[in-house]
Amino acid sequence: MDIPKNAYFQGRIVPYSEAKVGVATHALNYGTAVFGGMRGYWNEEKERLYVFRPLDHFRRFLNSCRIMWMEFDHTPESLTDLTLELLRRDAYRQDIYIRPLAYKAEEGIGVRLHDLKEDLTIFALPSGQYIKNDTNAHVTISSWRRIDDNMIPARGKISGAYAGSALIKTDAAMAGFDEALVLTQEGHLTEGSAMNIFMMRDGMLITPPVTDNILEGITRRSVMELARNEMGLTVVERPIDRSEIYICEEFFLTGTAAQVTVVTKVDYRPIGTGVMGPIGGQIRALFLNLVRGNNPKYSHWTVAV
Ligand code: PMP
Repeated sequence: MDIPKNAYFQGRIVPYSEAKVGVATHALNYGTAVFGGMRGYWNEEKERLYVFRPLDHFRRFLNSCRIMWMEFDHTPESLTDLTLELLRRDAYRQDIYIRPLAYKAEEGIGVRLHDLKEDLTIFALPSGQYIKNDTNAHVTISSWRRIDDNMIPARGKISGAYAGSALIKTDAAMAGFDEALVLTQEGHLTEGSAMNIFMMRDGMLITPPVTDNILEGITRRSVMELARNEMGLTVVERPIDRSEIYICEEFFLTGTAAQVTVVTKVDYRPIGTGVMGPIGGQIRALFLNLVRGNNPKYSHWTVAV
């Protein structure tokens, strides 16, 4: 596994080996941390690294902090500046993944959110494809349910909640699937272990609403905009029933890690024609091109390092 070169840690950029916390750290014991995840894309021709929508990622990150009773003097702009400074120091010439993490840094015992000191770190490391079969993924429906807003808020990217995602992912992987889709307690499809979902049905692009216990994905938002503006599609946010995936035309997953991953099989049943469809294919191509800073119309989504 690749490890980061440097980290922003306790207010300055240090070699990664110096960014360490004690074993009694609250966040390590209780999952009381929140994180973000964005990608930096290396553009070989321009010899530049482009970060995808950092301001939007940091807006969500600070919202997650608020949910978990953490206050920082930072703004999305200041966090973006810090990230760019870190990336200039790292000088990667390849695709990377950037991880901001805010955590309850107090060392000691006692479950709560209040009266605990907090800290914030950012690091980056090389990153490639997350799902190998990203044009023909085979997914299952997980036997685990998605966390509910009233258990651990799903719209916050809260570290402790990812114990659930890890159970979902490992059970799917051990059973030979590329990913798993997760249901709400009521039985609606929500998302994958770390990616949002879209289905094409009757010519419309449909995705679950933000009130169905999903993470409010930046890639999701980007894909909705691309589908409307570049492809003239009607995009609808509504609950999706489990059985709809058996009869839809196309299905795909979106996320920083998964990018646009096309799903062609669910529990051994072919989706649509059983191969990547035209809409998923087009959205993939549009997305994978613009993230490298190659589309002037969407240059406001990328920040050059
Ligand atoms: N859902 C979950 C649970 C996730 O962890 C992620 C990854 N951040 C996503 C959806 C996709 O969000 P984004 O497009 O912002 O990466």
